[in-house]
Amino acid sequence: MTKANGEFDLIARHFARPAANAVLGVGDDCALLNVTNGMDLAVSTDTMVSGTHFFPEVDPEHLGHKSLAVNLSDMAAMGAMPYWAMLAITVPSVDHAWLGAFAKGFFDLAEEFNVSLVGGDTTRGPLSLTVTIMGEVPAGAALRRSGAKAGNDIWVSGHIGDAALAVAHRHGRLKLEEADYNEAVMRLYEPMPRVQLGQALRGLATAAIDISDGLLADLGHICRLSGVGATVELERIPLSAIAAKQVQSDAGRTAIVAGGDDYELCFTANPNSRESIDDLQQMLGVQLTRIGQVRRGKGVSLLGPDNKAVKVDGRGYDHFSTP
Ligand code: ADP
Ligand code: MG
Repeated sequence: MTKANGEFDLIARHFARPAANAVLGVGDDCALLNVTNGMDLAVSTDTMVSGTHFFPEVDPEHLGHKSLAVNLSDMAAMGAMPYWAMLAITVPSVDHAWLGAFAKGFFDLAEEFNVSLVGGDTTRGPLSLTVTIMGEVPAGAALRRSGAKAGNDIWVSGHIGDAALAVAHRHGRLKLEEADYNEAVMRLYEPMPRVQLGQALRGLATAAIDISDGLLADLGHICRLSGVGATVELERIPLSAIAAKQVQSDAGRTAIVAGGDDYELCFTANPNSRESIDDLQQMLGVQLTRIGQVRRGKGVSLLGPDNKAVKVDGRGYDHFSTP
């Protein structure tokens, strides 16, 4: 884009907003951020590519929400407080209606969490969105993937599977009733990052991850980095009324446990933390469910009601796996 008109105008019109919690926000060569003494800086980035992470015709306001939400979810998974975001946006053309709607979705969520957009980059090309999020966590207190111990409980927030069921429906792998699809697809478009929960879990959870690639795959990451195995009981996995109707079929069950895009937290904790974690549900109004146990060994096993292993086809989304 020629800088004189297109790019600067686009940034000024849609993305230059006062950054409440930065020394200097959008407009200069760098943003300037004041980092609090005694805190670790937590940083994460996520890219969403048209056709891979979202259907090309998706409502831009949903996309604005989701591009920030998936990054806030990473902050949540570390128990960090998000403060600053950077947005690198590549668009095929300058469509102000599209950009305005995208910015609305982005800033509505940013305001909800007091996050400031402090900079970014704007280029022309196939539609792709990269958000970098930065925040703070008290030094040494971040929730990592590596702290799970044999004997720990495994917990998840909210309920699991709706977003992946909507995707499976779109791909013709199963069929949802129209009303169910319309509800489930909102979980795909507008996930709610569990930022408060993540912070409240500092000192309680021994390990944590946000569920983006699928419950079993993401729990598998905790296991690998913690050097443990995990057993999950299918019947304990919290489901919406929509997912409860689908869990009996192979395609439904696969979407629920391996589909992903939930952006709920999966975490492990010592059994003597059960009461404190139950208290959190009341305090934060978030459902927290114990779904299994960390054990010695390797890998994640899923048990059915008869205590027999349940086979699942997919094991989570991997961009570079060969089919
Ligand atoms: P430079 O050429 O020095 O990289 P740019 O022209 O790319 O600067 O950007 C000018 C300013 O606008 C910078 O502060 C940059 O961080 C900000 N910016 C560019 N694109 C975006 C965007 N999509 N969202 C927010 N800020 C942006
Ligand atoms: Mg630039």
